[in-house]
Amino acid sequence: MEYKKVVLKKGKEESLRRFHPWVFSGAIDHIDDSVEEGDTVSVYAADGTLIGNGHFQVGSICVRMLTWGDAAVDGDFYRERLQAAADLRKCLHLLRDDNNSFRLVHGEGDFLPGLVVDVYGSTAVLQAHSPGMHFDRMKVAEALTLLQGLEIKNVYYKSETTLPYKADLDAENGYIVGGYDTDVAMENGLRFHVDWLRGQKTGFFVDQRENRSLLEHYSAGRRVLNMFCYTGGFSFYAMRGGAQVVHSVDSSAKAISLTNENVSLNFPGDERHRAFATDAFKYLAEMEKGQYDLIILDPPAFAKHKSALKNALVGYRKLNGKAFEKIAPGGILFTFSCSQAVSREQFRLAVFSAAAQSRRKVRILHQLSQPADHPINIYHPEGEYLKGLVLYVE
Ligand code: SAH
Repeated sequence: MEYKKVVLKKGKEESLRRFHPWVFSGAIDHIDDSVEEGDTVSVYAADGTLIGNGHFQVGSICVRMLTWGDAAVDGDFYRERLQAAADLRKCLHLLRDDNNSFRLVHGEGDFLPGLVVDVYGSTAVLQAHSPGMHFDRMKVAEALTLLQGLEIKNVYYKSETTLPYKADLDAENGYIVGGYDTDVAMENGLRFHVDWLRGQKTGFFVDQRENRSLLEHYSAGRRVLNMFCYTGGFSFYAMRGGAQVVHSVDSSAKAISLTNENVSLNFPGDERHRAFATDAFKYLAEMEKGQYDLIILDPPAFAKHKSALKNALVGYRKLNGKAFEKIAPGGILFTFSCSQAVSREQFRLAVFSAAAQSRRKVRILHQLSQPADHPINIYHPEGEYLKGLVLYVE
């Protein structure tokens, strides 16, 4: 199938030939006059060879490639790609009696740039990051309900904040299939309410599943501080792991009430847990030295773009510095960065500087990353974003 044309400058097809899925505006020689934001377009090399088809967008990334050669971007395409995504999650053993929450589609990582889908039980929360995916949302929703091995009955569309503001699409959040909001989701046997109506992103951060599991194994008898707790994921794993006390902190009062709800869903009346709605830096400055021997630092992305990199690194250094200053001897620190713009090495260096300033003996026990349901397309290394370190602090 051939769509309206986007023709590249000479030599600018090289990265596409290596399957990188983005066409930058600087690579384009000319575009058919009738092309509009969100259209599916065909991309041609300067010599007239068709490279593939993708979604057009006004901005620095102009086309997000979906198919190579002349394959169409239609219902069959979405059914095939979504089934491949579902088959992978099945192979990862994420669909079990004690686990029904996972990322089904991770954009470029599932060869579907611009699309994110998280599944919680029979509900899929669909997020479009490009106008083209916004226009194709009903095809995606239909394909979701037809997936073999999954029973999606409810599709919530949540793209108000993820679509480019300038595209002026007026995308309203709402159900596009089904319409109930009572699913209780399950992660490794722990239950949580997913507030896809009001929560951040798609409602729950499924990307920390394996790291939470690891934390559980270090929790026995420890006094735990879960900083930037959001819905309390790390807190209830720590409780199941036998922590002595668990304190959850987040600056958002709503996050604190979600955390409390989730803790009572799993451990009703358990007095080991307390939650505080306050600023992280304030809490870390005021808490006592040695009060905690297991600290989790999972802040929001400090650098959303390269321009903010320097400040972000200072932020990571200061935040971790406080933890090294206060954590009890023999303490364990789980520290993360989810900023795509910050590389693994840069993050490690920021944490290293913080450790050196504290003059304590620090050892790296684990180097963590995003889980396999957030796969990285080998042709698109930009897909790597989550990194973490588990440190033993003497
Ligand atoms: N660890 C969480 C995800 C953290 S998301 C999980 O496993 O699900 C980041 C959280 O940091 C958000 O809930 C946000 O409200 C909170 N936050 C942002 N700035 C903060 C600050 N200055 N102090 C405390 N919390 C903050």
